[in-house]
Amino acid sequence: MATYKLLLIAGDGIGPEVMGEVKKLIAWINKNGKTRFETEEALAGGACYDAHRVSITDETVARAKNADAIIFGSVGGPKWDKVPYEVRPEAGLLRLRKDLGLFANIRPALCYPALADSSSLKRDVVDGLDIIILRELTGGVYFGEPKTITDLGNGQKRAVDTQVYETYEIERIGRVAFELARKRRNKVTSMEKRNVMKTGVLWHEVMDELHGREFKDVTLEHQLADAGAMQLVRWPKQFDVIVADNLFGDVLSDIAATLTGSLGMLPSASLGEVDSQTKKRRALYEPVHGSAPDIAGKGIANPIAMLASFAMALRYSFGMDAQADLIDAAIAAALAQGLRTADIKSEGAKVVSTSQMGDAIMEELDRLAA
Ligand code: NAD
Repeated sequence: MATYKLLLIAGDGIGPEVMGEVKKLIAWINKNGKTRFETEEALAGGACYDAHRVSITDETVARAKNADAIIFGSVGGPKWDKVPYEVRPEAGLLRLRKDLGLFANIRPALCYPALADSSSLKRDVVDGLDIIILRELTGGVYFGEPKTITDLGNGQKRAVDTQVYETYEIERIGRVAFELARKRRNKVTSMEKRNVMKTGVLWHEVMDELHGREFKDVTLEHQLADAGAMQLVRWPKQFDVIVADNLFGDVLSDIAATLTGSLGMLPSASLGEVDSQTKKRRALYEPVHGSAPDIAGKGIANPIAMLASFAMALRYSFGMDAQADLIDAAIAAALAQGLRTADIKSEGAKVVSTSQMGDAIMEELDRLAA
């Protein structure tokens, strides 16, 4: 029996509440599958600050590097608004992403049929939508140097950000995009602005070369990022995997998020390089939402983004696609029964708590696996 090590970091606010539902899911898989997950838990964010005066400890980073995957809740909240900048809750997550080299951020935009009417777009545009936005996460204009604001001394200031990419950074995110597409509908759309940006020219060239060299079996399309953003709201179902740099990926993935309804529905995965010795890929799975301090402690948070993040771990870290499909189907079935947490409630639906939604999904899993 394959055994894997998971590090669970629940964090703050609703983090521990939604992580509680993941623990039920892990117990279900350990009971019903051929794989065994061993779990360890660690603190990050405000909870870690309260205990250790830092937002993540060196020991937790070391344990994260050792784990087969990290399942992360969310961090932050008004309680820690005044703590020093370097140890603010979010710094713990940023350090984890950086120290683990998590350069590829995968955000699926999946529209469950039962929720198609919650989207800001028409039902037929989003019903059955299943696309991925792949964002480069550790390079580009968010990190490029120089990054300065200079006082020009004449009442004016000059701000500079630097957009910089090297071949290897584009190649490695491109490779993730093509590999993802091979497991799906085999199409990659690369978005940049080669008409006005040198990084766009290089991005386009490297994607083409990589495609020609290693991934001729996958369809590669290019779109300028502004036109692509327009296409994403006009007819999102034309896409399969969209790959973009850090800045465009940030914007495009937020647009895609709005297609599917609530923040409480959106999972994500952040992947690093495959380690040449262990052959393992470092990976962290987390919901897109934050710690939702406005509803924390009330037991009403939507656990679906967190549960779907765990399904992504099964898919991308453990090759357990069938089990991941089963979880996605169980989520869809619970929604189809008319069960809704408060954030996605609609007329005629039954509003349930975090744990009731989790339990309903577990029951659907039992039914689907029987
Ligand atoms: P948020 O995502 O926490 O909440 C935004 C809104 O969405 C709130 O009204 C909240 O109640 C609702 N919401 C979010 N997740 C939900 C869920 N699962 N079920 C039901 N409703 C949900 O964003 P925010 O309010 O801007 O930030 C709150 C705190 O979270 C801040 O400290 C912020 O820095 C932090 N944050 C952390 C992460 C992370 O840990 N990755 C991401 C974003 C924000």
